[in-house]
Amino acid sequence: MVVENHYIDAIRQKVRTLNEGQNEYIQAVEEFLPTIAAYLEQNPQVEANNLLDLLLEPERIIQFRVPWQDDQGKWQVNRGYRVQYNSAIGPYKGGLRFHPTVNLSIMKFLAFEQIFKNSLTGLPIGGGKGGSDFDPKGKSDAEIMRFCQSFMTELQKYIGADTDVPAGDIGVGHREIGYLYGQYKRLNQFSAGVLTGKPVDMWGSLARTEATGYGLVYFVKHLLADRGDSFAGKKVVISGSGNVAIYAIQKAQALGATVLACSDSSGYIYDPEGLDLAIIKDLKEVKRARISSYVDERPNATFFEGQSIWSIATKYDIALPCATQNEINAELAKTMIANGVFLIAEGANMPSDLAAIELYREQGILFGPAKAANAGGVAVSALEMSQNSQRLPWTFEEVDAKLDAIMKNIYENCRDTADKYGAAGDLVTGANIAGFAKVANNMLAQGL
Ligand code: GLU
Repeated sequence: MVVENHYIDAIRQKVRTLNEGQNEYIQAVEEFLPTIAAYLEQNPQVEANNLLDLLLEPERIIQFRVPWQDDQGKWQVNRGYRVQYNSAIGPYKGGLRFHPTVNLSIMKFLAFEQIFKNSLTGLPIGGGKGGSDFDPKGKSDAEIMRFCQSFMTELQKYIGADTDVPAGDIGVGHREIGYLYGQYKRLNQFSAGVLTGKPVDMWGSLARTEATGYGLVYFVKHLLADRGDSFAGKKVVISGSGNVAIYAIQKAQALGATVLACSDSSGYIYDPEGLDLAIIKDLKEVKRARISSYVDERPNATFFEGQSIWSIATKYDIALPCATQNEINAELAKTMIANGVFLIAEGANMPSDLAAIELYREQGILFGPAKAANAGGVAVSALEMSQNSQRLPWTFEEVDAKLDAIMKNIYENCRDTADKYGAAGDLVTGANIAGFAKVANNMLAQGL
């Protein structure tokens, strides 16, 4: 439900003017602002204190040069970022993305979303994000190591276990976190909690690798259970084949679903008998190969080169976009709905554009927005911080059970908040208001 609100309109206009050309950032803000109108009506202190204006200015943005040497001895340079957006609830927390599309707009949209996502976890973490336009594809291990060392040589000046705690995102996994952590440790005192997503034998948390994908499926599990339904017998399509997609596939299969397709940037694979996850894990986690090689081992499967997975022509029930931002536009959303999809939940950050979300709303699609549905990754990062502070590791089962409980709580919070603000069933409104309310209350209570 969208309520007219002059304050929101004024802020939206200001954001557009101040951030001209930063399309992803403006998109994330425009998805958010109209949905909190009902909250603002009932909580006049937000407008009275001009809180939105404050909230929409990142606390600090760091941009830096990352020089590194390639294997031929040639000097290269990339741009590094850390957006420390909001620390009302706790230390800045959010991943690092290494991908050639990274720019200030993408960093700011991700950091903005992270504020509310982190708030929804119920754990003491603020919102931040960072990364670089460095492209890890095709780079040797030694080049990746030198890049990570150079990146951290600069970043270490601005982070710390109680100030800002980066983790992984696209292009940053265990290998990169290991190199980043090693460099931090060389330049500072031991501090396990300065990064999360660390390898398990380097003070990482069990179940962190699985957390975003498992968390997404747990969120959907609770949403379905509320309707007396479950994953059993459902046909599912999951975009991507990185960390989020792989563990979403694993958990969806464990709960009785058949996952028909997944993708990478070169195209998608469709396996009518259901994906064989062992082959995908071997290709992606061990060989770092293209998804197209899957069909060499599964003759009944087909590879669709250069096509969006969402253009697939087959009947299925649940779509879990786990690749990247804006992978679904209105046209693809129409195709998904025509294929019979009744539930969409986002493992990636902002994978649906504004027109696609509008269509989900019009068509009554059950929709789990990224901020809520993919919060499991950062939630377990916060649990990793707890273990690092305690200097005691928890078991896989302990972390996994906590993750499931956190995702249930997030789902119920979004559902109940939507109900309370006259938007029953609208989890976008529920997530945005619930995430925002806690940040707003903290900001007001802490004063200027
Ligand atoms: N990059 C992940 C996200 O988008 C995880 C961040 C973290 O663990 O700090 O939420």
